[in-house]
Parts: sequence; structure tokens; C-alpha cells
Amino acid sequence: MTSVRLVILGRQGSGKGTQAGRLVEAYGPVHISTGDMLRAAVAAGTELGLQAKALMDAGDLVGDDLINSIVAERLVEGDVVERGFLLDGYPRTPDQATALEGFLAEAGTPLDVAVNLDVPVDEVTARMVARGRADDTEEGIRRRLDLYESETAPLLAWFAEHDLLDVVDGLADEETVFDRLTSVIDGRLRVGDARGTRSGMPVRCAPGA
Ligand code: AMP
Repeated sequence: MTSVRLVILGRQGSGKGTQAGRLVEAYGPVHISTGDMLRAAVAAGTELGLQAKALMDAGDLVGDDLINSIVAERLVEGDVVERGFLLDGYPRTPDQATALEGFLAEAGTPLDVAVNLDVPVDEVTARMVARGRADDTEEGIRRRLDLYESETAPLLAWFAEHDLLDVVDGLADEETVFDRLTSVIDGRLRVGDARGTRSGMPVRCAPGA
């Protein structure tokens, strides 16, 4: 089986978590969430967790050097080498994207695509308000979304400049959004295959498709 190397981006409330799970089932990559890795380190009380905790609590980003080295270590582990990855929550900054590009170039396994699951701010706000969790006041939600916006805009520009960005309209039912995602991913895999930057046939590419 050939492996895929994907980045998924999307606002909180965009359905990114659900779709990430489905993409993992469909293409078989390892789901790498840097937020989950950091939370696990905090829970385990490791040195890394101690360094990250205060920053995470304050809603600040962990430093690029620290997060880059965590990701670099994870990318060379056997399961990721074999199955590829779906990165979630990383890269967060253009510097992280440049670092990722470097790690992958070194390994000779370039990124296939970064998909941005796009759901308008008003819609994700309405979804989160409807969900009604205690920390989901409208003001709190706006603040988190503003932060995401300012963080992500330069990152989207970086991926677009490197011809690695596909925007998928996330405003539809789960099945439709999933079909949109797989069709852009399959398209990228075919292009990579034709360029010879991939080995083997794309996982979901039916013969003659
Ligand atoms: P998340 O679950 O992706 O929202 O991540 C939770 C927190 O972990 C963030 O608010 C950051 O403090 C930290 N974090 C996760 N991923 C990164 C990253 N790529 N760069 C810097 N900090 C990160």
C-alpha cells in the first residue's frame, strides 16, 4: 500500500475532527495531532509537558523549535514511515511549514496536499453556540476564532505559494464534505504519481479513474 502525506486545516467547529477520522480510515495514515501530543505530555508530567503547559494554558503557541523537534522525531517512527501521516494542528506558522518541508525533503517524501476545510465564521460560531458547552460563550468563541484567523492566514498563504493548498467547502452534510475531500486528495495523488514524486498507485484511485 502506498502512503499519503496530508495536512488538514480548519476552524474549530468546521467538522475537521470528524473528517480527519474518516480520512484516516480511508487512506490509512497515522493521525498526528500536536495538540494531543502536548496534552499527553502535560498529563504525563514530562519535561516537555512542563515546558508546554503554561503556554497552552495562556492560549499561546509553543515555540517553533520545540514543536518542530517533536514532529521531526515522530515523522521518522516506523508506523509513520510506513503509513504516511495526517497532520492536524501542525504546521501552525510559516516557519513550521518550512521546517516540515525540510524534514520531508530530507526523507525524499514530499507532502501531497494541505486541505483547508472551509466553513464560514458565522456558521462555526452558530454550531458551537448550539453545542452549548460551558466555555463556549459567544465572546469566547469569537476570541478563539480571531486567534485562529490571525495564526492561519500566513500559513494558508505559505501553502498556496508552494502550490500545496486545496480549499474544500465544508458547508454541507458530512458525506458530501467527505466526497469533496477525497476527490481533491485523489487528484493530488494522481498528479504526484504522474510526476514520479510518489511510489505506487494512489490508495483510492480505481483503475482507469
Ligand atoms: P490544539 O489542540 O491543536 O488547539 O492545540 C492546543 C495547544 O497546543 C495550542 O493552543 C498550543 O498552545 C499548542 N500547540 C499545538 N500545536 C502547536 C503547534 N503546531 N505550534 C505551537 N503550539 C502548538
